[in-house]
Amino acid sequence: MCMDFMDDTYCMDRRTPTKYDELLLLEEVDSICPVCGISLINKQAKKKKQFEIAHIYPNSPTKEEVKELMGVERLGSNSEDIQNWIALCSKCHTEYDFHKTKNEYLKMLECKKKLLSESDTKRQLSEKNIESELANIIVNLCNLSQSDLENISPLSYDALCVSEKISNPLLCRDISSKVVDYYLFIKEQFEIQELSNKKSSLELIAANIKHAYYVCKTEGLDENQIFSNLCNWLISKIHCDNTSAQIIIAFFVQNCDAYEKLS
Ligand SMILES: [Zn+2]
Repeated sequence: MCMDFMDDTYCMDRRTPTKYDELLLLEEVDSICPVCGISLINKQAKKKKQFEIAHIYPNSPTKEEVKELMGVERLGSNSEDIQNWIALCSKCHTEYDFHKTKNEYLKMLECKKKLLSESDTKRQLSEKNIESELANIIVNLCNLSQSDLENISPLSYDALCVSEKISNPLLCRDISSKVVDYYLFIKEQFEIQELSNKKSSLELIAANIKHAYYVCKTEGLDENQIFSNLCNWLISKIHCDNTSAQIIIAFFVQNCDAYEKLS
């Protein structure tokens, strides 16, 4: 083992990709092997899955690979970072793993960098089709009269679990107060929506916000950054004011698993 390899902290113990990792990586390549173009989704669900998660820089490089890849650019903070992973078909994965030249590595690296820039937070968030539902709620929020505000029943802090999800005390207090003030109102608005549309818009939006959360989290954003990112996204979608956006996002933090429980 040469010194460079021993000093190198990039390569870490192998980590099994989570379901979310797999989803994000599949979405990143539009479910198509970025090398050969074959579909990575098998329509016959019972068959074994068609994609594999490949390391761009190897998890356990051979001595030859360490030498071949000396000094190359590497993505992410370590080998198990999702940025160092890419969804490939099994054939291309095997081929990439066993015949890796510096040239092939650099090609794969460029491919991933292109995918990353294409699927940046904004693009992914802007595809979410929730604006019509939220617009109605925002209209209601923005048009709240004094008597409406008085009719919003406050919740007790005890009933809520924002503090179990947010560690930053200022952000936690901020979100909690918005939840307490508006939670029931927003929930009612969703129920009205669901009755009139005969579909579960709350669940749909919650799933989208949750997805947006994971996109931000995967990009390494902290709690505050994620919260403001989600708010900015909402503002860009429905042109509401910042306070309304914060109220809506606070609702989802409380209600819908946006933000995971702190470990
Ligand atoms: Zn392939």
